[in-house]
Amino acid sequence: MPLLVDAYAAPSAHEPIGRATIARRDVGPHDILIEIAYAGICHSDIHTVRGDWGEVNYPLVPGHEIVGVVREVGASVTRHSVGDRVGVGCMVDSCRTCANCRSGHEQYCTAGNTQTYNSVDRDGTVTQGGYSTHVVVTEDFVLSLPDGLELESAAPLLCAGITTYSPLMRWGAGPGTRVGVVGLGGLGHMAVKLAHALGAEVTVLSQSLKKADDGLRMGAREFRATSDPGTFADLAESMDLIINTVSAGLDIDRYLELLARDGVLVNVGAPGVPVDVDIFSLILRRRSFAGSAIGGIRETQEMLEFCASHAVAPEVELISIDQVNEAYERVLGSDVRYRFVIDISTLHQG
Ligand code: NAP
Ligand code: ZN
Ligand code: ZN
Repeated sequence: MPLLVDAYAAPSAHEPIGRATIARRDVGPHDILIEIAYAGICHSDIHTVRGDWGEVNYPLVPGHEIVGVVREVGASVTRHSVGDRVGVGCMVDSCRTCANCRSGHEQYCTAGNTQTYNSVDRDGTVTQGGYSTHVVVTEDFVLSLPDGLELESAAPLLCAGITTYSPLMRWGAGPGTRVGVVGLGGLGHMAVKLAHALGAEVTVLSQSLKKADDGLRMGAREFRATSDPGTFADLAESMDLIINTVSAGLDIDRYLELLARDGVLVNVGAPGVPVDVDIFSLILRRRSFAGSAIGGIRETQEMLEFCASHAVAPEVELISIDQVNEAYERVLGSDVRYRFVIDISTLHQG
């Protein structure tokens, strides 16, 4: 008998998210039943629910920053035990046989990874995410939470953390590298903390100076407003790596001009609209413009260990389930400090 659980679902792109009941599959031999404690709100949840990225299977339960406790394990499970603190990010499965899966890059699975919500699962059902009391996930896509991480604040690491850690590692952020972070929201604040912990010199580029004190406290050396035209002149050719976390389209050439020779601008922000790039912005200093998606399971576990050992934690605003719609509006208004996290105990009925 599938387990019926309480959830919060979007009925359509235009209606508020509200209470729903969904079914979770039976715990198979390699599955784990997790009682969810906290779920982060990622801007991707909003893009998806509002149809920014195309087809949506409504009603949709968003949420791919999930932490909780293992309540049941299948007969063949070896990686996790009942009572363990665990996490689930943006993927719950992949083909496991393509070159990308075999090299630990399941997020780039040639067959397409199975996303935590709004994906067709291996059994043909549509996946439903973490704004719910329980989830059943195959053991290989469940992460272990190291002791040093607080359950209350760890959830955003499962998407915002890994999405910024992965390009910082790929493009060698560390002592002597100058890293720019565009946008100080959920992803941006993790990029600042992680780049600082890796030893890089960090500059934040935000729309205004409203978040300057916070950005400097998180480890940035400089904090500049992009609304000030002087910023682009002052910082020209001063960075080696820029992580663009902005959820909207930007004038990419302005940001490419901030890169020194051989610098790389990595877009993790995913506005869902095409951007224009003047190829001369690349040619004239041998610059690169790249994209990056979350991170593989092995790298996500590595990131969790890194955060635990370097005392890197997301800054969260805990909300109850009935504040989700209001939180979406605040995220859309760049008014998140710096990740909303739903206390899932407020979803349990009576
Ligand atoms: P968020 O918390 O809303 O942060 C985005 C930040 O961008 C805002 O706080 C704001 O920072 C800045 N911003 C927003 N609108 C802007 C505009 N019109 N012009 C300039 N700056 C603007 O969102 P998030 O959860 O960090 O997600 C950011 C983006 O990354 C989304 O598109 C999301 O879908 C995407 N994402 C991608 C991946 C991946 O694997 N590549 C994974 C997760 C999320 P300031 O106030 O500091 O300017
Ligand atoms: Zn996300
Ligand atoms: Zn694959």
